Amino acid sequence: MAVLEKLTSQQAIDLENKYGAHNYHPLPVVLSKGEGVYVWDVEGKKYYDFLSAYSAVNQGHCHPKIVDAMVNQAKTLTLTSRAFYNDMLGQYEKFATEYFGFDKLLPMNTGAEAVETALKICRKWAYEVKGIDENKAEIIVCKNNFHGRTTTIISFSNDPVARKNFGPFTNGFIKIEYDNLQALEEALENNKNVAGFMAEPIQGEAGVYVPSEGYLAAAKSLCEKHNVLFIADEVQTGIARTGQLLAVNHENVQPDILILGKALSGGAYPVSAVLANDDIMNVIRPGNHGSTFGGNPIAAAVAIAALEVVKDENLAENANRLGKIFREEIGKLVEETKLVTLVRGKGLLNAVVINDSEESDTAWNICMKLRDNGLLAKPTHGNIIRFAPPLVMNEEQLMDCVSIIKKTILEFDK
Ligand SMILES: *Cc1c(COP(=O)(O)O)cnc(C)c1O
Repeated sequence: MAVLEKLTSQQAIDLENKYGAHNYHPLPVVLSKGEGVYVWDVEGKKYYDFLSAYSAVNQGHCHPKIVDAMVNQAKTLTLTSRAFYNDMLGQYEKFATEYFGFDKLLPMNTGAEAVETALKICRKWAYEVKGIDENKAEIIVCKNNFHGRTTTIISFSNDPVARKNFGPFTNGFIKIEYDNLQALEEALENNKNVAGFMAEPIQGEAGVYVPSEGYLAAAKSLCEKHNVLFIADEVQTGIARTGQLLAVNHENVQPDILILGKALSGGAYPVSAVLANDDIMNVIRPGNHGSTFGGNPIAAAVAIAALEVVKDENLAENANRLGKIFREEIGKLVEETKLVTLVRGKGLLNAVVINDSEESDTAWNICMKLRDNGLLAKPTHGNIIRFAPPLVMNEEQLMDCVSIIKKTILEFDK
């Protein structure tokens, strides 16, 4: 038997079940090809992708410009480690810092690593610049956050499934309610050792919770008032997903520390980054932090191409325009059926709330039917379905998808 052979969907699922750790519960569909807004399963059935690998594939599947950059670099030089310089990293750092308006970038690979990096930078800044006593720094985070899966990050999660039996946890975090400025103000006033406030500009995994207008800008000025760093985790909301390059741009906020991942590579390769200005980033000196793969030449080439695609193809404008149409159309469905209670989101990061309990399997069953009807989406929390297609979608495709979603949900209403 050859190591790699052509499988049926059931064979592929059976293999994962038998030989893989059961740390996910995937929708039963086995994909073997992607192009733009479409993916195909191993039997050749075509689907619209409405998850975009959790917003990593904003630029569309297998974007030719990104794939070319990756293949060309892979044939030339893949990895040197940071023990030596490579000719791609500096060019990428210049490009990305100018693109996002920061002095410096620290390259990592996954979102969780970038979050960890941001927390380390923030703490070090607190001791060396702000003057907090050693080991006393606190970072304020929000309830129902999602920032990744490392031990420190789950230390300030309140998802019992993500935390149970993984303790002991890391100290130094204060949890407050999201979208609550008074809670932030009290936390800042009652704790003299606060180093930073970290938040998602829209809580994606929690179910696409969009904060009240003005929340981010007001939070940023509260942070300024207390000499506290505002850390924006834009791993999911960044790179044009919400109709602006960054979700903080909707409120003209420049974070002190910006965390990017996912679509920074267009889904081709794990690339993440932390950006900050010199007064903050310069606390990091040789030996303080690193990663064998962080800043490798393939990642640099891929990220430059992925960011160029976002501008060349006006993906932020497209996400903004199509998002409005999507919410308007699904809004009509909310009027038509009691099964859907609301649609919310920004740009092409949207969620539909199904009128059933958190524990019910209605949202899952709807996603199964959507799959049968040629569209892939997944529930986030129980009764919430996230809809986040690649941003290279056009209006005709979007309307086709809207009609699939409407038809499917109305079938359930019978
Ligand atoms: C996905 C995500 C992460 C973690 O990224 P990984 O690449 O899965 O480690 C962190 N923060 C947010 C907001 C995310 O959506």
